[in-house]
Amino acid sequence: MIANKQTVPFVDLITPHAHLEEELVAVFRRALQSGGFIGGPAVSGFENDFAAFCMTTHCAGVSSGTDALRFALMAVGVRGGDCVITVPNTFIATTEAITQCGAVPAFVDIDERTYNMDPERLREFIETQCDIENKTGRPVTRKKRQPVTAVIPVHLYGQTADMDAITALARQYNLSVIEDACQAHGAEYYSKEDGGWKKAGSMSRAAAFSFYPGKNLGACGEGGAVVTDDEEIAQKIKTIRDHGQIKKYVHDVEGFNGRLDAIQAGILSVKLQHLAEWNEQRRQAAARYNELLRNIDNIITPFEPKWARSVYHLYVIRTEKREELQQRLSARHIATGLHYPCPLHLQKAYAGLGYQRGDFPITETVATEILSLPMYPGLTDTQQHWVAECLKQ
Ligand SMILES: *Cc1c(COP(=O)(O)O)cnc(C)c1O
Repeated sequence: MIANKQTVPFVDLITPHAHLEEELVAVFRRALQSGGFIGGPAVSGFENDFAAFCMTTHCAGVSSGTDALRFALMAVGVRGGDCVITVPNTFIATTEAITQCGAVPAFVDIDERTYNMDPERLREFIETQCDIENKTGRPVTRKKRQPVTAVIPVHLYGQTADMDAITALARQYNLSVIEDACQAHGAEYYSKEDGGWKKAGSMSRAAAFSFYPGKNLGACGEGGAVVTDDEEIAQKIKTIRDHGQIKKYVHDVEGFNGRLDAIQAGILSVKLQHLAEWNEQRRQAAARYNELLRNIDNIITPFEPKWARSVYHLYVIRTEKREELQQRLSARHIATGLHYPCPLHLQKAYAGLGYQRGDFPITETVATEILSLPMYPGLTDTQQHWVAECLKQ
């Protein structure tokens, strides 16, 4: 079985679907036989189940994680000309959503160990680069006089940001928090404030999830959802996703074509039943990697603080020899990834924001050293030993 041992894909989008093929095909068949392709019980059924999974009261299915972020921002009242704070170490969808609702992104650096938003950098941004407006209690950026109205912590790689600290600052400065939970379905955070474990998506006014096929819960196509405890926000999103319609052909506002379709919703309901088990397999695989890589010099394994239960969407190591390791693994047919090789503030698309190299030193250093190893629920012990063996060599 040497060939088998030598090839380690980065993700496996085939095996889980092969196991569930009959159930998934039945979803498609039901849609064909009923003609129910948009909306209907498949969508509302999934929305109820996913809200329950996230420990929230409401869920609105939408067509992607990007739409989920954009609609969430719009629904909490972010408007053209506002400033929304996030991190430069994320996928561009986070900032696209900000820009597409007319706002401007501002970045704060990440924590060197968790790779997520550093609450101290958030505080520093507010206290040193903003004035506080008397009327609203909100920060206004000094340079461009933009009102800061929201902050998007990203739960990157499947691990939540330090939400107590971020929430406290948001409360102090009257900011809406929107979680980008697109990589964190089922992740948990121990809130000292609330004295208990909380699910990703349940710690802010509204949270965005993606069901892109490679995510921990993936559709067989595109999909996304917003979860919230606020009925009004949920209702707004259900209007925005459907051309602003409150009733057929009644448009009080313009919206988008941003619905989750019935076939994807049905597929997601089937797969949601396995999500907790798949996440547990990812956690076990991460523990195995931690053990196997523990004594290799110059490799930093992921840091999981006591207050976090990561669902390891990605297993990301850090090493100064990143390029060399990646090439050598690739030569042995071990697939790896970089999440993300170029921080957003250095992307050409954001040249207009006026940032420079050196503005976010932790993000910039980390971007040259991170390496995502193969990670998916069916990853075997043998495959992981082989990856570790190659890293050691
Ligand atoms: C995947 C992802 C998104 C966007 O989701 P899509 O469904 O691809 O639109 C947003 N933010 C993060 C952090 C993601 O990983």
